[in-house]
Amino acid sequence: MDYLEIKKILPKGVNLLAVSKGFQSSDIEYIQSLGQIDFGESKVQEAILKPVFHSNNNLNWHFIGRIQTNKIRKIVENFDFIHSVDSYKKLLKISQVAIELQKMPKVFIQIKLAHDPGKAGLLYSELIANWDQIKQIKGILLIGLMTINPKGLNAEQNFQLFNKCRLIADKLELPHCSMGMSNDWEEAIKAGSTWIRLGSLIFGKRDS
Ligand SMILES: *Cc1c(COP(=O)(O)O)cnc(C)c1O
Repeated sequence: MDYLEIKKILPKGVNLLAVSKGFQSSDIEYIQSLGQIDFGESKVQEAILKPVFHSNNNLNWHFIGRIQTNKIRKIVENFDFIHSVDSYKKLLKISQVAIELQKMPKVFIQIKLAHDPGKAGLLYSELIANWDQIKQIKGILLIGLMTINPKGLNAEQNFQLFNKCRLIADKLELPHCSMGMSNDWEEAIKAGSTWIRLGSLIFGKRDS
C-alpha cells in the first residue's frame, strides 16, 4: 500500500503522521506534494539539519523520539506537537520552557501498557497518581496519550493494548490517541487511534 491508498481508506478522525526520520528533505517534499502536512521526527539534531524543516512554513512538525531533558528547549522551539513525554518532570519542564517562549505545544503523554525494557513511558499507575497535578499544568495543550506496542505481538494482542490506551484516554477525557505504526496501524485504528505514525510504509525502508 502506498501513501495515497492509505489516505483513501483512513476513517474520519484518524490523522496520519508521516514519520520522516532517516529521510531527506526531497523525500519529505515529495510526500508533501501528495497533500501531507504533518511530519514526525525522533531526533532534534537530525530534524533541524534538514533544509525543509526551516524553508517550509506550511508543515507541522511532531517530535516522537525519546526526550532528553537538555533538549527540551530545542524541542519546544521547533516542534508543534510532542508525542513522547514520558515523565511528569519532563512535562513540567516543557511547560516552563513553553511559557517562557510563549509557545503552546500540543502534547501527548507516552504511556507504557506492557512490559518492554527498551521502551519509555509512564505506567498507568503513575499517570493516575499524578493526574490531578498534570491537569493543572499551564503552557501546554495536553491532547492525548501515545503508546508504542512491544514488537512481536499478534494482531489481537496489539488490538488489546491499543484498546487499553483508548479506554484510559476516554476516562481522562483526552481526545487523542497517538498509536499505530507501519506494522500495527490497522489494529490501532480499530481500537480508536486518532494519530497513526507511519514511517517505512510511506517512505520505504530506512537505512538506519
Ligand atoms: C520510527 C517510529 C515510527 C514509525 O515507524 P515505522 O515502523 O517505520 O512505521 C512511529 N513512531 C515512533 C515513535 C517511531 O520512533
